[in-house]
Amino acid sequence: MPEYKAPIRDIKFVMQELLDCESHYAHLGFEDASLEMIDAILSEASKFTEQVIAPINQSGDLQGCTWSKEQVTTPDGFKEAYKQYIDAGWSTLPQDPAYGGQGLPHSLHASICEMLSAANHSFAMYPGLSHGAIATIEAHGHDIQKKMFLPNLVNGTWTGTMCLTESHSGTDLGLLRTKADINSDGSYSLNGSKIFISAGEHDLSENIIHIVIARISGSPSGTKGISLFAVPKFNVNELGEKLDKNGVNCGSIEHKMGINANATGVINFDDAKGYLIGEVNRGLNCMFTFMNSARLGVATEGVAAADASFQGALSYAKDRLQMRSMTGVKNPEQPADPIIVHPDVRRMLLTQKSISEGGRALVASLAQLVDITHVNNVSQESKVAAEQRLALLTPIAKAFLTEAALECTSHGIQVLGGHGFIKEWGMEQLMRDTKICCLYEGTTGIQSLDLLGRKVLGSKGKLLNLYTDEISSYIKENQSSKGSSELCATLAEYVELWQDMTNNIAERSQHNPDEIGASSVDYLMYSGYVTLGFMWLKMVDVAHSRMLENQQDESFYQAKIKTAQFYFDRILPRAHGHAACLGRGAKSTMALDSDSFLF
Ligand SMILES: Cc1cc2nc3c(=O)[nH]c(=O)nc-3n(C[C@H](O)[C@H](O)[C@H](O)COP(=O)(O)OP(=O)(O)OC[C@H]3O[C@@H](n4cnc5c(N)ncnc54)[C@H](O)[C@@H]3O)c2cc1C
Repeated sequence: MPEYKAPIRDIKFVMQELLDCESHYAHLGFEDASLEMIDAILSEASKFTEQVIAPINQSGDLQGCTWSKEQVTTPDGFKEAYKQYIDAGWSTLPQDPAYGGQGLPHSLHASICEMLSAANHSFAMYPGLSHGAIATIEAHGHDIQKKMFLPNLVNGTWTGTMCLTESHSGTDLGLLRTKADINSDGSYSLNGSKIFISAGEHDLSENIIHIVIARISGSPSGTKGISLFAVPKFNVNELGEKLDKNGVNCGSIEHKMGINANATGVINFDDAKGYLIGEVNRGLNCMFTFMNSARLGVATEGVAAADASFQGALSYAKDRLQMRSMTGVKNPEQPADPIIVHPDVRRMLLTQKSISEGGRALVASLAQLVDITHVNNVSQESKVAAEQRLALLTPIAKAFLTEAALECTSHGIQVLGGHGFIKEWGMEQLMRDTKICCLYEGTTGIQSLDLLGRKVLGSKGKLLNLYTDEISSYIKENQSSKGSSELCATLAEYVELWQDMTNNIAERSQHNPDEIGASSVDYLMYSGYVTLGFMWLKMVDVAHSRMLENQQDESFYQAKIKTAQFYFDRILPRAHGHAACLGRGAKSTMALDSDSFLF
């Protein structure tokens, strides 16, 4: 089992040196978020995740959750660890002080989520879902609902879920059948069954607040007739006190490929009392608050998995002795050299390192945009700009980083050879746990359609142009800088091709709408490689200027520069393959009629 070490040096590089969080927080009015405070919180979070959460990761996977009619039991140690999590106040960190939160920035919380998820993906999902439920009620609930649900969700004694999926309604939420009928007191009675509900039932918290989509009787069919409800497992009065059991039951839990310590439940609603959140038939709009927060959360899970796998592979590659280096013996005292000397092992390790560090920078920069959308003391213009950028980059971060993370976890196994395939080493668990990231919160295919169809073509290229203009201006300003001029020139070519490709698809899709679906995943992967390239370019510039200012920690900055060079040499060119594939259009993809797919 790889021993998890929180990557504090790199997290601080990203937050403090790359993104200047000190000025960012001061500008947004987060007076408590001083550098000393941030350092202290990161240090405590690293101890907590390394010492409390990581040790129950592998045992949690092996034991899994158990279902009985009365309750779902999480693996040994989870209940105690969750109690420590809430006792230490971690659940309150980014939440509104009006409900008992500490009012600290979302972006600080995001880096703690990365550590939690890298230490134990299954565990991190329990508070992660509560976070989405809190955001949804805060943004769209009435004052009474906020009073009923938020204080206990914020302090963590209650947890939340997101109930969208039904057996026949996954991607296509408009097909849902769960019904809601209004009661005389203004509440609703919900009837129906949801499947695949993460943290749907468990023994960690005293109550579970399900955020449920359902159709009010008489509402239109399809997505225009969906409303949103808060449905507690135990009823709650207006003071936020827990009462009797509601009509909510867990019918079973799934036996899964991974995240075995997170209970994935069938949740049945039988005349369950629920409270309408937001307006009738506007449920999907409200649900997007949850889904956007959750999609960035899943992108974070991708970064976390890539990093955890890198850590395990790196320590093994330094220890494992096999064969000699082709360029001469490196370890004469031993019968063989450590496998880290071999180019192919280095290729895998550097792929993991460049994806996890580049991804960390991307997620942290998006989390800073989320900070901007949450505060009141910035101009409307800044908020709109932040929202537009999030709209464009969230599907890229979610789908690209999780697909890349899955590749990284596969490399993690490969570096260990046959040992990587053996459970004891913990590397295969990382791969099993990570696959779900490409599926839930909208599959890679759906994120890609969202990016190309809605965000890029739907805005007539505006959102993309704003972003590529920013990259081009950055390149213009930095192209003569000694350290990164070559990288600037390379990235400029990819940005130009990005625009050409987009114009080309826009043109083709006017004649054949299937051109969008046939291109979208290649388009998203292309966008992801270029977006990460931009992150690496900026990191190289920071590393160079740091080395000029101060010779301390030179090896850290040199590693940044060399990893960036690897990314530009060996990872970014993959984007050309995606461009070539999508350039061939939809014709061959659609040529075979469905009945001719023979086997
Ligand atoms: C472990 C686990 C935890 C989960 N947690 C939750 C949760 O907490 N809450 C919740 O509500 N749900 C949850 N889900 C459900 C998850 O979000 C869905 O499984 C996912 O959205 C896909 O839906 P589906 O499985 O019905 O697949 P389908 O919608 O049937 O899709 C099957 C395939 O078809 C593709 N596809 C479908 N439509 C299109 C299209 N128009 N264009 C291109 N491709 C398309 C999809 O990309 C996919 O590859 C969870 C699932 C699992 C396995």
